[in-house]
Amino acid sequence: MAAKSYLDLKSEVWESGRCSGCGACVAVCPADALSFDEGALVMSPGSNGYCKQATDGVTCGACYAVCPRIDNQPAETLGKYLELITAKSSFDVPRKQSGGAVTAILANALDEGLIDAIVTVTEDRWTLRPSSVIITESDVLIQQAGSRYSWWVPLLAALKYAVVKRKYKRIAVIGVPCAVQAVARMRESDNDLVIPYGKAIRLVIGLFCTETFDYNALIQGKLRTQYRIEPHEIQKLDVKGKLEVLKQDGSTTIVPLAELETCIRRGCHLCMDLTAVCSDISAGAIGSPPGSTTLIVRTPEGKGFVDRAVQNRKLDVGTGVDTATIEKLALVKIRKNSKR
Ligand SMILES: Cc1cc2nc3c(=O)[nH]c(=O)nc-3n(C[C@H](O)[C@H](O)[C@H](O)COP(=O)(O)OP(=O)(O)OC[C@H]3O[C@@H](n4cnc5c(N)ncnc54)[C@H](O)[C@@H]3O)c2cc1C
Ligand code: SF4
Ligand code: SF4
Repeated sequence: MAAKSYLDLKSEVWESGRCSGCGACVAVCPADALSFDEGALVMSPGSNGYCKQATDGVTCGACYAVCPRIDNQPAETLGKYLELITAKSSFDVPRKQSGGAVTAILANALDEGLIDAIVTVTEDRWTLRPSSVIITESDVLIQQAGSRYSWWVPLLAALKYAVVKRKYKRIAVIGVPCAVQAVARMRESDNDLVIPYGKAIRLVIGLFCTETFDYNALIQGKLRTQYRIEPHEIQKLDVKGKLEVLKQDGSTTIVPLAELETCIRRGCHLCMDLTAVCSDISAGAIGSPPGSTTLIVRTPEGKGFVDRAVQNRKLDVGTGVDTATIEKLALVKIRKNSKR
């Protein structure tokens, strides 16, 4: 039987509203035929019409092989793990979102030469427009700390450049759970065109995620037009049962989550994975006191990266994670989105 092509992805995922926007299909298409359009509320990729398989009859199926929305979605609360710890960077990370633990683990890994590059999401300081990026130096990583809640930009788009053009062999990926699920498929895939991606990914750090917001709808629409907050006035966004907009002048504007329903990406309504259960290490704010990061260390590889950062005095760790709160929120997400 012929492998599935983008036409199957189009009918099963794009047109059915299941796409999460992770960008994995865009990254692995060997013909560079898939892309996201720049524009308002872009919910899924499109094709330029060419397809190795559908057009030329050459076996491919790479895009279909990596899509996390083909099968049933993971619906676990904490998932499997080796240890659950609270953690903080032991050096100053001015823009950290929680405890700066993600930055500390990866800065240590870069400095020690355990990884060559990190694929993550950055944002333009003036417009807050997010983009997919490759980081290879720890001082750049430290400057880029913090969470981007309004990413419609496919995180994994930069992965192609890292693997195919730069030929990095030891890449760390930071991603929200849907991107992590796609990377897990890359690591497990026996598709010849996908195997190089799986082999090059050394570490996957998953960020807890309840939902993400469309950039145009949230930053340009809700905050700029309705709340009269210009992107450059925003110092930090945080979602804690409400959206907190911390401004450069020190003031905070609170936006109730109920007001943001229309800004949430459509594919998020099908997502039941709060804690990124397919990662090597998951990281979130809930479960730890303010100023610390909760780390769910899931694999021996992930534990190795955490232990090295602790040994090199880049990361301080402790116990006492409030697992009940994490499980409660994870169950809320599962129950809400399993009904859709
Ligand atoms: C969209 C989104 C929703 C989240 N929702 C929750 C939640 O509901 N509950 C909760 O407890 N935690 C949530 N988090 C995680 C939380 O905000 C922190 O990222 C986490 O606690 C790690 O903090 P830290 O200080 O250790 O990370 P930092 O040291 O600040 O490092 C964060 C790293 O993540 C990268 N990054 C930022 N945004 C993205 C992105 N969108 N995709 C890929 N990489 C990115 C940055 O480049 C940086 O390297 C969310 C994060 C995101 C991005
Ligand atoms: S979920 Fe990801 S891999 Fe699947 S169609 Fe959407 S962008 Fe592509
Ligand atoms: S809620 Fe799920 S689908 Fe939406 S961005 Fe987060 S992980 Fe992806």
